Amino acid sequence: MAESMKGLSRSARCAELSVGDVGKTVTVMGWVAKYRNKGGLIFIDLRDRSGILQLIFEESDCGEAVYEKAASLRNEYVIAATGVVAERSAVNENIATGRIEIRVEDLRILSESETPPFEIVEDSKTKDEVRLKYRFLDLRRPDMQRNLMLKSKVLGLMRSFMANEGFLEIETPILGRSTPEGARDYLVPSRIHPGTFYALPQSPQLFKQLLMVSGYDRYFQIARCFRDEDLRADRQPEFTQADMELSFVDMEDVLDVNEGLIQYVVKESIGVDVARPFPRITWQQAMDEYGSDKPDTRFEMKLHDISAVVKDCGFSVFTGALAAKNGSVRGITVKGQAGMPRKKIDSFVTMAKGMGAKGLAYLAVEPDGSYKSSFAKFMTEEELAAIVKTMEAEPGDLMFFAADQNTVVWNVLGAIRLELGEELGLIDHKKFNFLWVVEFPLLSWSEEENRLVAEHHPFTMPMEEDWDKIDTDPLSVRAQAYDIVLNGYELGGGSVRIHRNDIQEKMFEVIGLTKEEANEKFHFLLEAFKYGVPPHAGLAYGVDRFIMLLAGCDNIRDVIAFPKVKDASDLLTEAPNTVDPVQLQELGIAIVEEN
Ligand code: ASP
Repeated sequence: MAESMKGLSRSARCAELSVGDVGKTVTVMGWVAKYRNKGGLIFIDLRDRSGILQLIFEESDCGEAVYEKAASLRNEYVIAATGVVAERSAVNENIATGRIEIRVEDLRILSESETPPFEIVEDSKTKDEVRLKYRFLDLRRPDMQRNLMLKSKVLGLMRSFMANEGFLEIETPILGRSTPEGARDYLVPSRIHPGTFYALPQSPQLFKQLLMVSGYDRYFQIARCFRDEDLRADRQPEFTQADMELSFVDMEDVLDVNEGLIQYVVKESIGVDVARPFPRITWQQAMDEYGSDKPDTRFEMKLHDISAVVKDCGFSVFTGALAAKNGSVRGITVKGQAGMPRKKIDSFVTMAKGMGAKGLAYLAVEPDGSYKSSFAKFMTEEELAAIVKTMEAEPGDLMFFAADQNTVVWNVLGAIRLELGEELGLIDHKKFNFLWVVEFPLLSWSEEENRLVAEHHPFTMPMEEDWDKIDTDPLSVRAQAYDIVLNGYELGGGSVRIHRNDIQEKMFEVIGLTKEEANEKFHFLLEAFKYGVPPHAGLAYGVDRFIMLLAGCDNIRDVIAFPKVKDASDLLTEAPNTVDPVQLQELGIAIVEEN
């Protein structure tokens, strides 16, 4: 039978007590994490969000009635225990409260518990589906609690830093109109205007630009954003952005504030010092050296371009790739791996093919200087020597090569590089390598839509020195856009915005939006821009991903209290779900059966 806590008040959380409290009478409350009956002595590990505390019941201390009650406790019962803090004879170095225990004098059972479907322990091996179905129990586990407490702390630190820097926190609508972030929108039907829809915001982009027009020259918001995309380990359909916009600034100002923000947040949350200024590389350099626009710089193994060396060779896979538009031959050198088993090499070939490459060539220089290779027979000794030189390889090293369109080559080698970095233990997991990637292309070609699309979004300012090429060579125009990258993850991105009508109009034209279409979509922004718009720029972080990296976990779900799974459903509440026909009727919606 559950008892009331009337007359009791909690003195402290479990792990807030220490040796300094010895001799005090305290009341603690929490969940039974562990139970041991040694006959005459009962030990309980009490758990709350602060940690674990040992309770000890000795019949001579607490009397028969309390002792019997203690003997009836089971895991996950919620209890209140009053007793004296005592020094422990057997110290447990593994927990913060390992030097003390509570010698209990009074006990109340506040709530009983059924046997939970899995044990509430750290590093649970329980299947994800079960953890998520019983998320309320999963969230009781110490590692999940640490993650959510870290998240709360980081959000608080961000808010206070930004407030100190003069940013105003301003909310923007959740029910809005589609914003042009490029992903699919989540739609909400309107009851009052049948047949019309709100779109949930993919980001507050247009609203924050409007706020600049309105004169709120530094805006900040922890904003929920929604994108109907296919999910990955580091993506959720609804996620949190730390979003900002600044007026009367250029890129340098934005980068400066954000380096300060990151340095402060990382130091105050996990105690790690981050040096400033952060390294900066251009998008081109990132692709050429790491095969990725979010390079993991915790290890080397950079890409090398051997196109010039092999352009006249006898290996048609290489020369064929070079003959095509935007084709290249590039490679990575894997130090000391000349002896990599054939099976392992084949697994990388399979991986490359899975990523759209026709194959993956390799060349090993044996310790005695001889070659083992998939293509050496098509090459002269001089050509092989030139490749080895360009690849900065030595006897004992292995090289992988991809020959294809640049994008395929970068993707494949970038991915293999990461895989090898992890597998060969080249990554120092204690490092926090923040890095700016700048000078992104303004546009990219969408095969799907058969048109140029904005690489960031269509309000991104081109680089002045490239603007004259917008008609002749649009893909070579770079943008005043920047990404903040940490250990191979894109933490966030932003840009200097277009605040000039002529450039904005041209930009719409280039991405195939007619004046009418642009007006139809963004009339409110274009209208606002007629009335005095300050130069402005901004940036947004994917906060969940940032916290995930600070917490040292590799799944974004572990830092979100109630996340969705891969098919965008919530296993706990079983959303999405059907609704009452009356609700549909009110909205004027009829469900068409798919056949
Ligand atoms: N709104 C952009 C995004 O969500 C970020 C920015 O440009 O500030 O990616």
